[in-house]
Amino acid sequence: MAKNPPTNDANNAHESTKGNQSGSLTRRTLIAGGVAAAGALVLAACAPVGTPILPTSTARAIRKITPPRLDTAYLGKEVLCYRPMRRGAPNMSVETVGSQIIAHNYGHGGSGWTLAPGAAKYVVDLVEDTEQGNIVSKGEPITVVGAGVIGLFTAYELVQRGYSNVTVKAEGFENLTSHNAAGLLAPVSMDNAPEFQAIIDQIGIDAYRFYAAVAKGEQPDFAAGAKIVPSYFQTREESGLEPYVGAVMEPAKDVDVDFGNGTTRNMVVYDDGIFIDTAVMMEELRAHLDSRVTFVEEKITSFADLPTQLVFDCAGLGSGALNDDAEMVSVQGHLIMLKDQVPADMEYMILVYFAEGVTEANQKVKRSFYVMPKHLPETGVNDIGVVGGTFVEGGTPETPNLSEFATLLQGAKDYYGIA
Ligand SMILES: Cc1cc2nc3c(=O)[nH]c(=O)nc-3n(C[C@H](O)[C@H](O)[C@H](O)COP(=O)(O)OP(=O)(O)OC[C@H]3O[C@@H](n4cnc5c(N)ncnc54)[C@H](O)[C@@H]3O)c2cc1C
Repeated sequence: MAKNPPTNDANNAHESTKGNQSGSLTRRTLIAGGVAAAGALVLAACAPVGTPILPTSTARAIRKITPPRLDTAYLGKEVLCYRPMRRGAPNMSVETVGSQIIAHNYGHGGSGWTLAPGAAKYVVDLVEDTEQGNIVSKGEPITVVGAGVIGLFTAYELVQRGYSNVTVKAEGFENLTSHNAAGLLAPVSMDNAPEFQAIIDQIGIDAYRFYAAVAKGEQPDFAAGAKIVPSYFQTREESGLEPYVGAVMEPAKDVDVDFGNGTTRNMVVYDDGIFIDTAVMMEELRAHLDSRVTFVEEKITSFADLPTQLVFDCAGLGSGALNDDAEMVSVQGHLIMLKDQVPADMEYMILVYFAEGVTEANQKVKRSFYVMPKHLPETGVNDIGVVGGTFVEGGTPETPNLSEFATLLQGAKDYYGIA
């Protein structure tokens, strides 16, 4: 587990930072700067009395965060859901099968929300760039299969471009993975081959622009669903957000996070992180599309059964079966909703990775801890926050791995330094 327990050392480092000195050494700077630091001590010992000892690094700002209430009385429902991950990269491509054009948009893993508006734009661009797609008239019937975030944003993109005869067909519309997702904008929990990373980054940057406009009240179609909050990570690399810096985000800062209980953590923070309130945004999307798109509840077993020439394949894990795609894998996640919190204390996000392990069903699990200010539309104003952080590769409803909920909660308490 990558943790800084609240030892005296950590507290001393914290105190020295408070005094605006240079003494807060993370494990990383200790390793990287160990030789230089030791040298500085020797020089200090040899220096004549009265010689000022200059700081060796810049001071780290302190951020105070009050941990959420994590006693049993403050825990809401436990949620299990499944990320549609595709090994190698999401399938965002166009193929022609007989007279049909199938535009794939599935397999976004733990980053479907992060990418959705940009991925929709990318895939519709691909279609319009093909010879057959280019001649599809704006009034021609089009089917979008799937009503999760990917399907709804694809339908939204089509409507925005003037396509007027769009039908969204889906087996389910409620309580989808897309509603349950935590809401961090960061391209994490994917398995992209290096040659796709630049495309994925550009799609995420486009999506960031969209959500930032929603958060600032500058997006005419959506009044709610995204806000700008500080996003904390252990390292810049773990955030996946470095390619966004300079394009749409400001550089991260190194900070000491003080939980007010003797526990401090060395972290990096992106103050212009974006939280997507996923269930709220799903409602916003549905409300906007209801009068512009036809919704039909139907399970599709073959694209060939659909009456339209142009089909968008946005069925998440269902796309794996529809395409017989062996690269698709379900990655199970456990979430604990919080209730009766102090909303003002929840205006941030944290994601930290712990060690990998094996679940009770003998499945590989990557454990992490994250917290986000998620709010379900039907709950009270103080019922805010979600704790999550499991990634069980191959996890399905048949292997719920229920003991992960307790492990998750303990990881959160340990990180915050809550007894
Ligand atoms: C615990 C957890 C936390 C997450 N947190 C984040 C986060 O913080 N940030 C982030 O960016 N992403 C996050 N994600 C990932 C994100 O939720 C997913 O990538 C995204 O929701 C996938 O959307 P989707 O539309 O592809 O799939 P879904 O939401 O699963 O929707 C699929 C749709 O296809 C339909 N369908 C399936 N098969 C068929 C069929 N045969 N016929 C007709 N319809 C069909 C379904 O009924 C449904 O309407 C998280 C996921 C999990 C599990």
